[in-house]
Amino acid sequence: MRTTALRFVMIALSLTAGCDAQPNDDDSEQYDENDDTVGTGEGGKADGTSASTYRSGCGAPIRTGKYALKGDVVGPLGVKLDSYVVVDGEKIVAVQASAPMGVTVIDTGGVIFPGLIDGHGHVEYNHIPLADLGKRYQDRDQWPNAKLYQTLVKAPKNAVTAAGLQCEALRHGEARALVGGTTGIQGTPATACVRSLVRNLEGVNFCQDRVRQNVTGAVGFNRSISGKPSFADSVKADIAAHKLDAVVVHIGEGIDEHARSEWDIMKSLQLNVPQLVMIHTAAFGAAEYAETAAAGAKVIWSPLSNLLLYGKTANIPLAMDAGVLVSLGSDWAPSGSANLLGELKVADRVNQKLWAGKVTDEQLVQMVTIHPAIAYGIDKFVGSIEVGKLADLMVVARKPNVSAYRTLIGSAPGDVLLVTISGDALYGAPALMDGLGKSGDYEIIDACGQPRAIDMTVTAKDVTRGTETLSSIEQKLQTVNPKLTPIIDCDNDEAEKAFAGTAVQ
Ligand SMILES: [Zn+2]
Repeated sequence: MRTTALRFVMIALSLTAGCDAQPNDDDSEQYDENDDTVGTGEGGKADGTSASTYRSGCGAPIRTGKYALKGDVVGPLGVKLDSYVVVDGEKIVAVQASAPMGVTVIDTGGVIFPGLIDGHGHVEYNHIPLADLGKRYQDRDQWPNAKLYQTLVKAPKNAVTAAGLQCEALRHGEARALVGGTTGIQGTPATACVRSLVRNLEGVNFCQDRVRQNVTGAVGFNRSISGKPSFADSVKADIAAHKLDAVVVHIGEGIDEHARSEWDIMKSLQLNVPQLVMIHTAAFGAAEYAETAAAGAKVIWSPLSNLLLYGKTANIPLAMDAGVLVSLGSDWAPSGSANLLGELKVADRVNQKLWAGKVTDEQLVQMVTIHPAIAYGIDKFVGSIEVGKLADLMVVARKPNVSAYRTLIGSAPGDVLLVTISGDALYGAPALMDGLGKSGDYEIIDACGQPRAIDMTVTAKDVTRGTETLSSIEQKLQTVNPKLTPIIDCDNDEAEKAFAGTAVQ
């Protein structure tokens, strides 16, 4: 059973102008997992206007002022107990053992991690609960035609789009990511209403627009439409011109030869390149992973989605032994985890059950921090707690007698104490949010027994519907999708569901 998060008190928010009054609303773009409509890589929205650069780490800083967070700091070289992360404006300016002078210190009492980066998602679908499609499939070309998929997933998705609530669905999906410590996520259509919460990896970030994504199968990559270069040709031209860090595609999603052969297509198109970021690769064996490693291509692993749809997931130890850089992605709510905090638990369970714990806790944490930052070409800016990087941070409650890495993997929703993006506190325990200047600028939600403050609102001119509250967003979505997913999922039994009835139990 899933429980709906209870909302306690809604703190008054100063600006709640109706979204209908906002200019440049763009609900026209139809995003479908079988369409190549997202992530043009050209830096513009589908309607031709320029995308918002709010919270992109580019241009005028979104905040000023200095503070320090105290806690156990998980840095690139290990854990520093009782240390301080000093933030000035949007950036980390020091990590030190002694209290900084003349700076407000917030004692979090917790363990401070870099903000988590979700290597793959379909954020617009995350208002839809886990959908039992009745059986396992062989590859991703099979289930989109299933009647249950149409009823349980496409119908509510289309209803929300038809009601003009695409922006609300995206912001709801981003909120679900944020409360699990996610500060960056892939898989958002190029509409006007992103940029208000988490970083959108395929958009302009840090003044660069160097990521492209294509969620169709590999088969269509060589197709030229209306005389335009094919996706493959246009990507290769961008790579040759040194304009691309990552091209993100679903490859090998399934367990049959059809899924595996997508790697052959990549090779025949000469897209077996370091910029290639492959989602899933569940059909890969030792030969494909050896070639992936030789090409320098990357892998995004979504174990829950693989297990629920296909009954089998990627052989990650094989990939890692070959030298492939692996990141984790929560995929989407209809067959995936609520967020990375949930997906880490599934990855952990798979690792213990199938691979006798071969993947270490530290490696699992790297899969949600520095690895996706490297895969998306943004590791100079985020992905670790280092001086000069943006202050994308998450803090979880300490746990006795376990490592910091195990603490994160085992964290429940109520253990998340604070999440900041560019130094801006967006979610956390009310006392910490108040300490960081957010008093009166948040709503209170229930994190499975713990009150938590979430600041959903942004007044930036170029963020469409940025002033809408979470409460209003949920209300609107619920009228169209009565089975709306809660912002915080308390039952946390995804791993059990994934293993039920699969051969890997
Ligand atoms: Zn996907």
